[in-house]
Amino acid sequence: MKRNVSLEEISDGRLYDKNDMVRAGCGDCKGCSACCHGMGETIILDPYDLWRLTVNLGVTANGLLQEKLELHVVDGMILPNLRMNPTTSACGFLDKEGRCSIHAYRPGICRLFPLGRYYEDSAEAASGIREAGYFRYFLQVHECPMPNKTKVKVGKWVDTPQLEQYEAYIRKWHSFLETVEKMLPQMPEEQVKNVNLFVLKLFFLKPYEAGDFYSQFQERMTMARDVLEL
Ligand code: SF4
Ligand code: SF4
Repeated sequence: MKRNVSLEEISDGRLYDKNDMVRAGCGDCKGCSACCHGMGETIILDPYDLWRLTVNLGVTANGLLQEKLELHVVDGMILPNLRMNPTTSACGFLDKEGRCSIHAYRPGICRLFPLGRYYEDSAEAASGIREAGYFRYFLQVHECPMPNKTKVKVGKWVDTPQLEQYEAYIRKWHSFLETVEKMLPQMPEEQVKNVNLFVLKLFFLKPYEAGDFYSQFQERMTMARDVLEL
């Protein structure tokens, strides 16, 4: 989801990569679950999140959509996000003790927080200065109320195995979405709907196998690029 705010307004003005130290460490979030409340539709999931949740919880994507997830249109694309309880405004995965009940399988955005991803201008990618979907991390300074944060290595904070491969996947997914989003305004309404349903089914609803996610993703990406003629 693109946000029309300047980096200066929401961050410490710096961009980080996985080897940098950043003051984001909030210990064990003791007594706090602020970022698991009132997040609206903003915790958007990617295919890796769906793989991680469905394989580890033993549920289907459709099963998760019954209660824990919902679908929204983001920049023209139908994508899943964590559903907040309409009464308590808490994420459906938050337990009674105020802890994340799926900590080991929590989505990428939850792993990052209070960091975010800042994607470089796609014009730079087009001119070959940057690879498509290139991003760095930034620290959101107004989001996490925990005082006295400690310095942590970005790569450790993100807490994701095979981080380089994961980052390459994120770039690929982001640039795919960006390409499709740019095509949608030129399409008739019916085609927009069909493209959206195709992407939703292929990357989110079609069950993933346990085992290597990245090869399954690549297979689906090749098919998507073929069908959509990208
Ligand atoms: S707001 Fe900060 S301290 Fe609170 S749960 Fe989120 S990351 Fe942890
Ligand atoms: S999945 Fe876990 S960490 Fe993420 S918002 Fe829900 S309860 Fe919080």
